Amino acid sequence: MALEGHWWGTITSEPGSGGDIFNTKTIAQPNASGYTISGTKHFGSGSGITSFMVTTAVPAGEVEPDLFFLDMRNVPWDGSSGVRLLFPWDGHGMIATQSHAMQFENFPATRAAWPGNIRSLGAGVSGFIACCFTAVIVGIVETAIESARQRLQARHTSMRPYEQVEWLRITQEGWLIQQAYQGMLRTIEAKGSAANYDMLLGKTAVAELAESATSRLCKVMGGGTYARYSPFGFWFEDVRALGFLRPPWVVAYDQMFAGAWPTD
Ligand SMILES: Cc1cc2nc3c(=O)[nH]c(=O)nc-3n(C[C@H](O)[C@H](O)[C@H](O)COP(=O)(O)OP(=O)(O)OC[C@H]3O[C@@H](n4cnc5c(N)ncnc54)[C@H](O)[C@@H]3O)c2cc1C
Repeated sequence: MALEGHWWGTITSEPGSGGDIFNTKTIAQPNASGYTISGTKHFGSGSGITSFMVTTAVPAGEVEPDLFFLDMRNVPWDGSSGVRLLFPWDGHGMIATQSHAMQFENFPATRAAWPGNIRSLGAGVSGFIACCFTAVIVGIVETAIESARQRLQARHTSMRPYEQVEWLRITQEGWLIQQAYQGMLRTIEAKGSAANYDMLLGKTAVAELAESATSRLCKVMGGGTYARYSPFGFWFEDVRALGFLRPPWVVAYDQMFAGAWPTD
């Protein structure tokens, strides 16, 4: 279906789950043609743009959630077909992503072809997903730094001490972001799914560096970056997404701490 040009997204997150898919409350009921799901989901990035959405639900009678996908093509969001738009996305950043909150009520869902294996499927792809999330943010930081460089070119010889120091910190952080991302690619190519811990370190490091670098950029470029006519404030808000993307900060730090003591 992807080959036919269809876009896929995920709407796994649920309010009150603390970003942990094993806290999923949505229920999947089996029927003659598959399953239907009922529950509340939010942060469905790509809603209205994607044809299919991956989600999680606990199959009735089972204890762990499993993976499902939803065919969202031509589905109205008024509740008449089992999908209701609860809250339209109003993010400070990633504003074009339509990461809406949705209520599902007996909405048809297709279960993963290898049921009951969410943990091994997750372990198989989480490093790759971390690279994909990180790549987007690396691109934003690159664009932000290059745009600032072009705008500062004419006046760089008269930059004041604070601006000079901040610019060099931006340069260092931009360089570290590139090294971290290259390191992620090298490690996943060498170790495959055994690289998941390294991917988490890399994603989290880039999230922290990107927030820092784009915040400094706003200060160097001046107060105008607070206005919506300037792209720098948007870039700052956009990169803030990375730390919240799965696994979000708290879950990421839990996993990194566990990974730091692998023999426990
Ligand atoms: C810009 C953006 C885009 C996103 N896109 C997607 C997407 O496309 N698809 C998708 O599925 N998700 C998406 N997400 C959601 C993301 O993956 C997280 O699920 C979301 O950010 C909520 O996790 P959180 O821990 O940060 O916050 P919250 O769920 O608000 O929790 C806040 C904190 O409260 C505590 N907490 C709350 N509930 C519990 C609990 N039950 N148990 C233990 N502790 C708890 C934890 O300390 C937690 O970190 C997106 C998020 C953002 C910001």
